[in-house]
Amino acid sequence: MSEESELLCSAKGCRRPAAYKLLWNNPKLHEPERRKTWLACDEHRASLADFLAARGFLRDVEGLA
Ligand SMILES: [Zn+2]
Repeated sequence: MSEESELLCSAKGCRRPAAYKLLWNNPKLHEPERRKTWLACDEHRASLADFLAARGFLRDVEGLA
């Protein structure tokens, strides 16, 4: 449905355009240098980052240009 180029927030049910990229790694599943990416809108950046940080997965947060 949506364009490939359209970057939307990864939060469940959210269809807003993403403004941030959350880079994370689950040490039990991933090589240490591997990065998984979640996209987040302004509204969900904090809750998604908190979710990852609470599990020790969050590595970096970058703004999207
Ligand atoms: Zn969102």
